Amino acid sequence: MISDEEKELVREKTDVLQIVGETVNLKRSGSSYSGCCPFHADKSPSFHINPNTGLWKCFGCQKSGDIFSFVMEREHIEFPDAIRYLAERAHIELHEDAQRSPDAPKKTRLFELLDATEKFYSQSLMRGVGPAYDDARKYFSSRGFNSDVCKRWGLGYAAGHGRLSKHLMDLGFTLKECEAANVLVGRGRDRFFNRVMFPIHDESGRCIGFGGRVLDDAKPKYLNTSDTMVFHKKKNMYAYDKARESIVSEGYAIVVEGYTDVIAMHEAGITNVVAVLGTALTLDHIKLLSRFAKKIIFMFDGDSAGQHAAKRSLQFMKDTEADLRCVILPDNLDPADFIAQRGVDELKGHLNKSEPLIDFVFEIILSEYDLAIPGQRVKAFDELCSLLSVFKNSILLDEYARRLADAFQVDVQDAKKGIMEAKPSITGETNTLQPPVKPQSQQQVKAYTTGNSQSQVKVQPIVDPELDRYDDIAYLQDYSQYEDVTYYEPSHQSQPKVEVLLSREEKAQLQCEKELLTFFANYPKVVKSFRTSLENIDWVEPNHKVICDAMMATDDDADVNEVVKAARTAVPEADLVLTAGSIVYEDTRAKDEKIKFILVNLELQMTKRRIREKKAQANHATDNSQMQQVLEELKVLSEHRDRLMEILTKI
Ligand SMILES: [Zn+2]
Repeated sequence: MISDEEKELVREKTDVLQIVGETVNLKRSGSSYSGCCPFHADKSPSFHINPNTGLWKCFGCQKSGDIFSFVMEREHIEFPDAIRYLAERAHIELHEDAQRSPDAPKKTRLFELLDATEKFYSQSLMRGVGPAYDDARKYFSSRGFNSDVCKRWGLGYAAGHGRLSKHLMDLGFTLKECEAANVLVGRGRDRFFNRVMFPIHDESGRCIGFGGRVLDDAKPKYLNTSDTMVFHKKKNMYAYDKARESIVSEGYAIVVEGYTDVIAMHEAGITNVVAVLGTALTLDHIKLLSRFAKKIIFMFDGDSAGQHAAKRSLQFMKDTEADLRCVILPDNLDPADFIAQRGVDELKGHLNKSEPLIDFVFEIILSEYDLAIPGQRVKAFDELCSLLSVFKNSILLDEYARRLADAFQVDVQDAKKGIMEAKPSITGETNTLQPPVKPQSQQQVKAYTTGNSQSQVKVQPIVDPELDRYDDIAYLQDYSQYEDVTYYEPSHQSQPKVEVLLSREEKAQLQCEKELLTFFANYPKVVKSFRTSLENIDWVEPNHKVICDAMMATDDDADVNEVVKAARTAVPEADLVLTAGSIVYEDTRAKDEKIKFILVNLELQMTKRRIREKKAQANHATDNSQMQQVLEELKVLSEHRDRLMEILTKI
């Protein structure tokens, strides 16, 4: 709770003209000031503020209030956050900070300490003598960052070996303060050593933490400051202070994966770029950006990690009005490499062609599976349903159900049902994209856990302490550690969905497959003599192939019991399939004729399926010669179909 006294203290200590002057070009008129209103499209100066009372009013849009409501309006934040915002700006330590952890060092001390650390690392980079320092300078220059760039971004080098520790103690900081800022760990060891350093700043440009990258093959490749009183990786973003102004003026923000990408893009003149801080994107990040950005463009790497990130980001669409879009650079280049090799204009060209995130996610999932194979089609459908299930209670549900229905040629109601019944694919905190961390990394993580982790947890009740403990080793660019985490559980009741997703021809073939397998279970020797035909079946149901192969693999003189047992061993539910056919019982024809009838029928359905596929191809043919070829194939298939139908009538 922030007391009224403190609120008034903040009001008293706030320079309203300075705060308002950041967004409004103020001109004095008598005892008050006026300018163009920042809250509506104002041509004449309708906005007035009196510095003595701190009250403002716009005669254009009729908005008015005090400095707190001005900040709420401008920063799109709630009242308590407006007080905190102004308190920080005025260097006032609120009582609530002290209340949360009575022994904790003062925030202002941490800012001083972090500033001193940034300077120390920077000077080490500039002036350090020795091979390690040379390597650090070489690293930055290999990225195209000369000493001016390094200075502008406060880039540095952490040598380790207690050098920082000694420096900070000499400046009069206590061990407790150093640990609270997470620059020293475990009885005064330097947290970062032999790493090039990227200082991270808050909105007002104060250093709040660091990202450090190794120069050798040590792990983790990127190490970030753990969450502290002033650093929150799930809320802060890299370069937000530098990007904010252009985000406001451009109306959109770009999110990239790496710190060097941010720097390279800013230096190339694209300045509305930020990055996350060694964690997956959170809803807080989205909220931070959408305060000023109507559009957020993600530049994901083209690899599978980037695709995971895109899928995970989809869930935020329901919680933000910002237009979420994405860009994948060709040839797996990251933005920094892309600019170096092809220039910034080509990069801008790609930014102009950004596509809606939802389109991209549809595309990647549809391309991951071969939709001509029913089993894979079901998986693709399931995965999309899981991802879209976050929209269950959203007004967007209808729209996405329609898209899903279009993509799979199914009924909209069936698509909607699929989404409603699906389980969300992402587990963990609902507002975070942080995947669950594997247990085996616990040991490794402990080594990095700071001594005061206990008090940190108390300071920040909003952060799940379990998740937070592991975040230390989050890699900045390398999402590959998450690769083997399953985001999506295939549905165990896929059977009804299979039916929904099958074409008429596939449904017909599915029945033929059941007839064949039922017949097989009753007359194994007869069916085995058609071995070659069976090998050429393009099964609709993958389990049917497994059953068939298992029965085929039995001894030539195996009896019915042995064959069924083999099927059951391969697929526990085989019994259901082996009793699903009816021809074997109800038909009066001889065994040989029955099996021929089944096999010809099966081939007929496969041919019909191919005809359907070819027709679809014909619809998407891009040139005449391709069209001709498809038509030619269609003709051959149609003739074959007619021949099979004729044979069938004669059996
Ligand atoms: Zn106005």
